[in-house]
Amino acid sequence: MEPKTSRSSVERDEPCDICNAPSLTRSILDVNLGGVFTARICECDHCGFRQIRPRLSPAELKALYSIDYFDSDSAIGFSDYARQQQRYEREAYFLAKQLRKIAPRGRLLEVGCALGFVLHSLTQYSPWDVMGIDVSEFAAYFADQQFGLNVRCTTLEDAKFPDNAFDYILQKDLLEHVRRPRDHLLETRRVLRAGGYLRLITPNGTADLGPVRNLSNDLQRSSKDLLPFLGQVHLSFFTKRHLLRLFSECGFECVRFRNIHIKSGLRALGYLPAKRKKMRAVPVGKLRNELDLSSKTQRPITVPDDPRTDALAEKIRRELAAQRSRLRSWPPYFYFRHIQERMGTWPSFITLGADFGFDFEFLLRKR
Ligand SMILES: [Zn+2]
Repeated sequence: MEPKTSRSSVERDEPCDICNAPSLTRSILDVNLGGVFTARICECDHCGFRQIRPRLSPAELKALYSIDYFDSDSAIGFSDYARQQQRYEREAYFLAKQLRKIAPRGRLLEVGCALGFVLHSLTQYSPWDVMGIDVSEFAAYFADQQFGLNVRCTTLEDAKFPDNAFDYILQKDLLEHVRRPRDHLLETRRVLRAGGYLRLITPNGTADLGPVRNLSNDLQRSSKDLLPFLGQVHLSFFTKRHLLRLFSECGFECVRFRNIHIKSGLRALGYLPAKRKKMRAVPVGKLRNELDLSSKTQRPITVPDDPRTDALAEKIRRELAAQRSRLRSWPPYFYFRHIQERMGTWPSFITLGADFGFDFEFLLRKR
């Protein structure tokens, strides 16, 4: 079955982001990407890197981050983003401590800042200047309206920041979403000052793809005309080896590495029984639609065109209010949860070099 694409054959032959082999030749499986279109995951014959190919066009990427991405009732994106607000607050508290050690003040950029929870909390705990960018029009609008943050709706590549503009860049769950990971990292390095830090969290591609492959195999055996549904719309599936090579070749040194979410990692990798079937399958073709891909270019924050904007913003505000608890905003509680979370966060030497985390966390420094 040939995935439906509107991409040119030039894109089809782009080299591997990791090893620069001429193309990713081996086709692994087809998936439904966020209910928007069918896409094919391919593998590089030389280094084993897996990625959706042909690459998405900028307009297709934008179509994936519609307003539904942040709606808790939608099947795609963050299903419980607001519910996790206090986790983001905790993360900001510990990040502020880290920033204090680097310098009393500085400039921080969060790429993929979503609704702005981390940045907003950071402004309460740190005097650093913070800024965010996100490709979702709704997210940038919400972060601006709700928290008055300095945000722009753009990709890093389109933002055209000056050289050495930031002292610290945060990229949580971002690299797996960008169109060209190598170019993205080179651009990150350009806007980071020499010696500046990049904190990057991205899924362990093997764990991320494990349940998808299992489901795809099951579906093929049952000969049903269904495809695995990728609600989180990841485009690249990195191993640690791939990432370390990419970082080094893009001019970063790795200061710290951690496996995080060990339990879910072991489940996804098949070492522990799967908790509950979370993956969904969707009929082939049914959710594919002809997209209007007339590309919208970057523009300042305005009210997004989608008529559901205000209703969704209000819904998220209600969800936030419902989740608020005084105890959970109390620093001793932060430490309690921090220690709990550390139990699921292991450096590689504990796992004897094997990587069982569902996610990887790197602290990188610009060489
Ligand atoms: Zn390769």
